[in-house]
Amino acid sequence: MKILVVGSGGREHAIVWTLGQSPRKPTIFCAPGNAGIASLATCVPIAAHDVEALKDFVVRNHIDLTVVGPEVPLALGIADEFRKHRLKIFGPTKGAARLEASKSFSKELMQRAGIPTARAKSFTDAASALAYADQQPLPMVIKADGLAQGKGVMIATNRQQAREAIVDCMEKAVFGEAGKEVLIEEFLDGEELTIMAFTDGRTIVPMPPAQDHKRVGDGDTGLNTGGMGAYAPAPLGTAVLREQVRQQVLEPIVTHLSRIGSPFQGVLYAGLMVVKGVPYVLEFNARMGDPETQVVLPLLKTDLLEVIEAVVEHRLDQIGVEWSKEAAVCVVMTSGGYPGPYRTGVPIRGLSEVPPEHAVIFHAGTAFDQQAVVTAGGRVLGITGLGSDIASAQQTAYRAANALSFDGCHYRRDIAHRALHPRTS
Ligand code: ATP
Repeated sequence: MKILVVGSGGREHAIVWTLGQSPRKPTIFCAPGNAGIASLATCVPIAAHDVEALKDFVVRNHIDLTVVGPEVPLALGIADEFRKHRLKIFGPTKGAARLEASKSFSKELMQRAGIPTARAKSFTDAASALAYADQQPLPMVIKADGLAQGKGVMIATNRQQAREAIVDCMEKAVFGEAGKEVLIEEFLDGEELTIMAFTDGRTIVPMPPAQDHKRVGDGDTGLNTGGMGAYAPAPLGTAVLREQVRQQVLEPIVTHLSRIGSPFQGVLYAGLMVVKGVPYVLEFNARMGDPETQVVLPLLKTDLLEVIEAVVEHRLDQIGVEWSKEAAVCVVMTSGGYPGPYRTGVPIRGLSEVPPEHAVIFHAGTAFDQQAVVTAGGRVLGITGLGSDIASAQQTAYRAANALSFDGCHYRRDIAHRALHPRTS
């Protein structure tokens, strides 16, 4: 069986690594992939957003199944295009992916489905947005409607910041088309949790709850990033909370999408803020999270290929999906300066050493320079440690991370701190 995985980050390395363990021994291709993925799959130099070229590759090479990692090809309609040509693909259609690609659409759907979420109003003209923002309590959250690579959300703690955020989005167009419409949202004070689920549009199979660390510095300080680490299962996601999320969030959104003619097939990602035990949805994503995937997939005991095929063939209710009772912690190593400007092409040391037992090194921004593996992005590596509990998984991840280095390398030393030292207030 031949599979194409679309994408080039740590998430895609984790997907390729997990599919590579299938007893069916699939032949895996990855577009465009990275230096780590290249040891498990044939990397093909096609950009993840080049839907036409991806389709041609799949047809020419008789690929049986395509698995999409990132959001952009989904928002561009890769699933629609592939299905039109009867090509098997794991990922939602453009209509269903709007859940992630348009925050106003997503909010409206949540409101209609009665899903707990922050109060919000959307605007297409700056004057009305500014007038509304002047009346709202602080802090308030200003969000660009479209995809802005995780940078389109601003938490304004004073009126000046709120005004600047609106002007930047709507008048200065710093996020281009993505900021033409803006959502002004109530600020929720709680603890964040991610629950992802496989769904074929009817059956929902939630994954272990995870928590990621968005800020660049220890103690959750500094600028927001794509994600500095994650762990699973997050103790915040108790059985009671998971059931609440299933009933109040996942089931209603899946039902509503089907009702409006856009059934969701793939992985649904619910980004939640848990406030006094109530899970409010901050955002839905239409694909797996990065770095959450790097801690959740290593806990999957069932063959991922079986699960994906069951989703694509709408028979998820017919398979049992099992998860390991272990814990996983992923520490992300970044280029110096990230999330600001950073250097690339820096040689990475230690990759040829055998990592400690129960540690997996996932590549994100890496490439080959001659024979050497060098940095090629902001987030460079994600080191996942597995263990019987979060503490031992964390120890393993750090032991492996400490054995790797490159000039300017940065990583947080406190990934999973919330699980080990929970907030008491
Ligand atoms: P990403 O793609 O990185 O997940 P995004 O641009 O899609 O981000 P959100 O996830 O909606 O945007 O928001 C990013 C972060 O902003 C959240 O993880 C959360 O920390 C914060 N945030 C968003 N909305 C709220 C809110 N209503 N109250 C408090 N914090 C919020």
